[in-house]
Amino acid sequence: MHQDGPFEHPDNLAFDTLAVRAGQRRTDEQEHGDPIFPTSSFVYASAEEAARKFAGDEPGNIYSRFTNPTVQAFERRLAALEGGERCVATSSGMAAILATALALLEAGDEIVASRSLFGSTVSLFDKYLGKFGITTRYVELGNLDEWAAAITPKTRLLFAETPSNPLSEVVDIARLAALARQHDAWLAIDNCFLTPALQRPLALGADLVIHSATKYLDGQGRAIGGAVVGRDKELEEVFGVVRTCGPCLSPFNAWIFLKGLETLGLRMKAHSENALTLARWLEAHPAVARVHYSGLASHPQHELASRQQQGSGAVLGVEIQGGRDGAWSVIDATRLMSITGNLGDVKTTITHPATTTHGRLSEEQKALAGINEGLIRIAVGLEDSEDLKADLARGLDSLI
Ligand SMILES: *Cc1c(COP(=O)(O)O)cnc(C)c1O
Repeated sequence: MHQDGPFEHPDNLAFDTLAVRAGQRRTDEQEHGDPIFPTSSFVYASAEEAARKFAGDEPGNIYSRFTNPTVQAFERRLAALEGGERCVATSSGMAAILATALALLEAGDEIVASRSLFGSTVSLFDKYLGKFGITTRYVELGNLDEWAAAITPKTRLLFAETPSNPLSEVVDIARLAALARQHDAWLAIDNCFLTPALQRPLALGADLVIHSATKYLDGQGRAIGGAVVGRDKELEEVFGVVRTCGPCLSPFNAWIFLKGLETLGLRMKAHSENALTLARWLEAHPAVARVHYSGLASHPQHELASRQQQGSGAVLGVEIQGGRDGAWSVIDATRLMSITGNLGDVKTTITHPATTTHGRLSEEQKALAGINEGLIRIAVGLEDSEDLKADLARGLDSLI
């Protein structure tokens, strides 16, 4: 590989190489690191050049709401990692979902989505897209018959998160993609939990991948951002929305995510190994009723997950004996883990979904989503697993 030239979408390079190298374009300063371009606009040598750029007759930067070189480096790198033709970065994960919906849907269209979605995604679909005449039906993630039954001639988009949060349910992406194709709808997969290091939905037939870069792409809890990856055709529409409506990513945040991507493969492998070690230990503890994690042999879709995923990620759903009291006492006995609803960090986080992330759901919705009072969610970080076990053992041992 020639170090001095532009380095964009090299073929035949492995994931970890792309994560470090893809997307960078060196400037004449010959910098080794990825540069940050904190500029709102760009200048031209002449009125004629400006006219050509504005008319779109000549490629190039105009204004950072449209394009910015640091943001583009992040977009090229993530596109290479997901195996997509193009990526458009956004100001947050929610902005990525909003931009996708604005780009592809219109009044009267329908979405079919998995019931176990991120809470704000449900609000976006029901409260805001609903205002503009787009309706969403929710189905059980892993039940393809339910997906098929919910599709109507108006369905344009299937939307899923797999594995789900916090119960680690899995859907067969290839079969869901075939269903979408059969009905001339797009399939979008929110790949936040596994990232392309552990799951590549486009290779399995999905049309679009959505990211909250805030989570594992950054990986260290520093910045908010998002992205959509897919084919040129759809991404040109998404780009049009971001360029016009304004939920663009800042160059500073793009630079943080570029740094995050460099270690993505290593981190996701380490997160998965730590999570599996903890999941196996928790499963054997007498104060634990059940552990939901697709990496465990006891998981009902373990075989599918092993085929579709290169690891199971960091998020564990753990049912503690003794309902809410038991769950809260385990959480309150921790000294190392952070009690917070966030995830995707090197720091392990622990939360009680029924009263936090899923607290606004009705009792019926909670029951449908499988969120019971004894459930805690642990997003396993990169601390030593023995220290994490000791942190949980303090509360768990007091329950038996
Ligand atoms: C956090 C999250 C989002 C939203 O991302 P933001 O960057 O917070 O806007 C969407 N989907 C999933 C699965 C998430 O965890």
